Amino acid sequence: MGIIKKTPARIAAMEFLSLTDSPVDIEQIINYLRSKNLNTNKVTVYRIIEYFYKQGIVNRLDLQEGKFRYELAKGDHHHLICDNCSKIQDISDTVVPKLEEEINSKHKFLIKRHSLEFFGLCLNCQK
Ligand SMILES: [Zn+2]
Ligand SMILES: [Zn+2]
Repeated sequence: MGIIKKTPARIAAMEFLSLTDSPVDIEQIINYLRSKNLNTNKVTVYRIIEYFYKQGIVNRLDLQEGKFRYELAKGDHHHLICDNCSKIQDISDTVVPKLEEEINSKHKFLIKRHSLEFFGLCLNCQK
C-alpha cells in the first residue's frame, strides 16, 4: 500500500468504503460524496477508485451487472448475491483454498487468483 495523497474526495470515498459492509458501485460513492457537500462527478470518482485499485486498497468485483463494484481489500472471501433483492453477503470459507491446492497438485497449475460468486436467494427472499 503506497502513500495516499489526501484530498477531501479521496478521504470521503475511503470513509464510505469502510462504512459499508457490501460492495458498492460508482453511483453510490458519488451520492455519498455529494451528501458530504463535495462537488464531484463520475470521472473524478472513477479516477479515485482506479487509484485505490492500483494501490491494492480496494477489490474490484464483476457481479454480472454491467458495472463494477468495489470493496476494501481484505482476506480471500466470496459473495452471495440474492437474485431477488440484490443483497450481497460476504462469506469466508475453507473449501476454495482447498480446491486451489487440489487443482495445483492435480494439474500443476499455479493459481494466482479466481473469480467466484454465488447467485441465488437470501434467507428473507426464500420466505
Ligand atoms: Zn433477497
Ligand atoms: Zn466482499
